[in-house]
Amino acid sequence: MTASTDALDLASEEFSLLAGEPAPPTGKQVAVVGAGMAGMACAIRLALLGNSVVLYEARSRERMDETVTDSASERALFERLVARGRIRCEYGRKLGVDIELADLHLWHDAIFIGVGLASGRVLALSGSDPAGLVDAGRRVAAVYALDDLLALPVPQRAIVIGASRGAVGMAARLKQLGAHDVTLALRHALAPDGREEEVARACFVRVRGWVAPLEVLRDERGAVASVRFEQTRLLGDCMVDTGGFTEIAAHAVFKAVGRAGGTERDPLVRQQSREGDRIEVDGCFRTALPGIYAGGDCVAARLDGVQARRHGLQAAQAIHADLQA
Ligand SMILES: Cc1cc2nc3c(=O)[nH]c(=O)nc-3n(C[C@H](O)[C@H](O)[C@H](O)COP(=O)(O)OP(=O)(O)OC[C@H]3O[C@@H](n4cnc5c(N)ncnc54)[C@H](O)[C@@H]3O)c2cc1C
Repeated sequence: MTASTDALDLASEEFSLLAGEPAPPTGKQVAVVGAGMAGMACAIRLALLGNSVVLYEARSRERMDETVTDSASERALFERLVARGRIRCEYGRKLGVDIELADLHLWHDAIFIGVGLASGRVLALSGSDPAGLVDAGRRVAAVYALDDLLALPVPQRAIVIGASRGAVGMAARLKQLGAHDVTLALRHALAPDGREEEVARACFVRVRGWVAPLEVLRDERGAVASVRFEQTRLLGDCMVDTGGFTEIAAHAVFKAVGRAGGTERDPLVRQQSREGDRIEVDGCFRTALPGIYAGGDCVAARLDGVQARRHGLQAAQAIHADLQA
């Protein structure tokens, strides 16, 4: 069975859902990223359909309270679902900075991305996808299924971008396969006493914290030569760019995001890699990556609030149907 939203009369269904009780738990957990018009609608609908929802929002709780974007009845319903444990909110958690798609993949059965106009830098790299730039693969594949790595000549120098367990595992594996120099580049620091630090240390992976990737630089043949990073630091609770830059030489760059396959076969990674681009979705708001959906301003230009909300509702319906199939 595949999800279809064609026959939905959303207007009347929305009304009945506002009054309705949540369905019995389905045992599925969905991550909703962005508590804007699309994300809120999606989270509420998913929770009412019986799914457990974790809402990741870049803004702090206090800043969320400053903006009233939804109706009072929707807000009350949202609060009720939170109080009943059907929706859990993680404020101050920014995708691409504090959390990575690969991690969300690990923790949840599906992901809805509703980050509005901020989609451009969610996955960081702004360069194009030259030879040598490889998607590090779906979370588990990145560490355990080595098809991607074994199919490639092992690069002498490699950079793995990301702080997830998948990224660390990928860097360690590259070293074990014979890469001479492997750098794990991340926007913050690894926990000094954590398992990731231990794995990196044991495998002689160089950890380079506090850098955000800006651009992949190529040599005259078009092959990857290095990656240019902007240095980051903490300002209070926020991560900010310092304005300083650094460059790390590499023959291959791996990003621990998305699923197995080259970036050229991975429209989400490609699309999100470019500032201002939109995420491509099908009629049921599915992206090219299995289990990842997107809606609202990050998939279409010039939406109004009602349309963005409708995206969220329709995507929730599609996610629920896909998870039940
Ligand atoms: C200036 C302006 C005025 C507008 N006026 C109107 C109007 O009067 N009426 C109307 O109907 N529509 C209006 N719109 C359009 C409407 O605001 C949008 O269509 C709608 O808000 C889009 O909803 P969304 O959920 O896609 O994105 P948003 O509502 O923008 O929500 C995105 C959410 O994602 C969060 N986020 C962003 N990046 C991340 C990340 N990396 N990780 C986690 N969370 C993240 C943001 O903090 C935000 O909470 C206006 C738009 C603009 C820009």
